[in-house]
Amino acid sequence: MAEQTGNITFGIVKPDAVRDGKAGAIIQKVLDNGFKLRAMKLIHLTQREAEGFYAVHKERPFFGELTNFMSSAPCIVMALEKENAVKAWRDLMGATDPAKADAGTLRKEFATSIGENAVHGSDSEENAQIELAYFFSHLEFV
Ligand code: ADP
Ligand code: MG
Repeated sequence: MAEQTGNITFGIVKPDAVRDGKAGAIIQKVLDNGFKLRAMKLIHLTQREAEGFYAVHKERPFFGELTNFMSSAPCIVMALEKENAVKAWRDLMGATDPAKADAGTLRKEFATSIGENAVHGSDSEENAQIELAYFFSHLEFV
């Protein structure tokens, strides 16, 4: 792996954004905000794969809606490197509900609802490692 200048988090450009042609604009903002892409691929999750990824939410009332949505179209999974990557990426994403997201955040600009909210980001370094390992093998990191 190339020299690491920060730590790494895991992000997804969700199916709504890919389907609506917003992936390029979102990835440009990722780069403009100083993140380095360490791994990236376009994948179409099965419902079972989406259920595995979001297993922590399996008791939530929106679990079926969420896993249907996440398997409805391709998404882009990414390993993002920056100093304080987990917090920096959550800050750039904005609040889960786009109606509550700050100006300048990705969810403010690109999300359409609390469910179809354009991007995912890990909520801790520990979960970032778990989520990166769910989607990427060692050979896929640059
Ligand atoms: P975040 O993605 O900001 O970390 P959560 O971990 O709470 O948010 O929820 C995971 C995902 O589940 C959200 O990004 C969103 O796609 C979906 N979700 C959360 N809350 C709701 C809700 N009330 N109704 C429908 N979908 C929801
Ligand atoms: Mg979350």
